Amino acid sequence: MQLRIPGPTPIPEEVLQKLNKQMINHRGKEFAELIHDVTRRLKDLFQTKGDVFILTGSGTGGMEAAVVNTLSPGDRVLVVSNGFFGDRFGELAERFGAEVSWLRFEWGLAADPEAIRQALSQDNSIKAVLVTHNETSTGVTNDLASIARVVREFDKLLLVDAISSLGSIDLPVDAWGCDVVVTASQKGFMVPPGLAMVSVSDRAWQAHSRARMPRYYWDFTLAKSFLERRGQTPWTPALTTFYGLIAALKLMEEEGLPNIIARHARVARRAREGIKSLGLSLFPQEAFASNTVTAVRAPDGINVKELLRILREEHGVILAGGQERLEGRIFRIGHLGYVEEADIEEVLEALRVALPKAASRVTG
Ligand code: PMP
Repeated sequence: MQLRIPGPTPIPEEVLQKLNKQMINHRGKEFAELIHDVTRRLKDLFQTKGDVFILTGSGTGGMEAAVVNTLSPGDRVLVVSNGFFGDRFGELAERFGAEVSWLRFEWGLAADPEAIRQALSQDNSIKAVLVTHNETSTGVTNDLASIARVVREFDKLLLVDAISSLGSIDLPVDAWGCDVVVTASQKGFMVPPGLAMVSVSDRAWQAHSRARMPRYYWDFTLAKSFLERRGQTPWTPALTTFYGLIAALKLMEEEGLPNIIARHARVARRAREGIKSLGLSLFPQEAFASNTVTAVRAPDGINVKELLRILREEHGVILAGGQERLEGRIFRIGHLGYVEEADIEEVLEALRVALPKAASRVTG
C-alpha cells in the first residue's frame, strides 16, 4: 500500500515496532523520563527555547488550545485564511467569543503579507493574528517569515497552525517570533494520531495571564506545572503515540532537520514535475506550492472519486480528494514524514495508468 494522503502518514518499521509495547504508569518515573526526553527533542524541531507541551488530542485540539489560552471573549483577532483549515481556525475563535476580522484569500493563492500589514494598520484593536503555515486543503505554504515580520512590527500575538508543516518545512519558531505554534503527531512525525504539540512564547504567556476564554482540558498553566513539577501531563496521555514519538524523534535527529527539510523539498519538486509531465496542472500558485502536499487540478472528463478508486483498488495507491468547495475539483498527494522520491515515482506511475482508465469509464 502506498498511503499518500496528507496525514495520517506511513510509519517506519522501526517506529511501528515500538508501538507494540505494554502500558506503563503515566504517573511513574519511566514516563517522566520519556516526556522530558520527547519535549527536549521537540524543542529542537520547533527551533525554540520556549515551552513546548504535548497534548493528547488531534491537531484541532491544539488549535483550540492556542486560542483559549491566549484570548478573551470579545478580543478582536485577524484571521488570515486561504483555505479550509484557515477557515476552521477562525470559526473556532468565533465559537469561543473572539471578534473575527477575516482576511480571506482565494483558495490556491498564498496569503499576502502586505494585505496583513494594511489590515493591522487600519485596526489597532486587533490583539492576535491567526494564520495557517501550510494550507493542506489547497497545497499552499504561506510565507510565514514575512507574515511574522509584519505581525512583530505591530507587536500582535501570532498563533500559527503548523500542523502539516512543522518538522517537514522550515519553521524557526523563535527566530521568526511565533507565539503559539501547533502541530500534530500524524503528520511529519511519522507516528499515529493522538498528540498535538504546541510551543508557547514568553509573549504568549503574558497573554495567557490575562486570557479569559473558558478552558479546562487545554489549560497551559496546568500543562506547565504538571510537566515541570512531576514529569507528567494533567490528563492521561496517549502513551502508545508517545512510544512511537520518541523512536521517530531519534530517527529525525539522526537525519538532521536541515536534511529532512531538503528531502521534503526534493520529493515535492519531483511530485510537481511528475504531475506536469503527465499533462496535469497544479492547483496552487506554483511559487507557493507546498513541500508536504501537492494539490492537482482534476482534468476535464475525470471523475475524481473514480480516479481515487482505481488508484486504490488497482494500484494500492491512496490519495486524498479535495475538501469542501474543492471536492471533485482537485486531488492531493501527501508527501510528508516517511517519504522518499521512490514513493512519488510509484504514485506517478499509477496515475499514468489510471488516468486514461478513469477518463474512459466516465465518458465510455
Ligand atoms: N490544520 C491543518 C493545516 C491540517 O492539515 C489539519 C489536518 N489535516 C488540521 C488543521 C486538523 O488536524 P486534526 O485532523 O489532527 O485535528
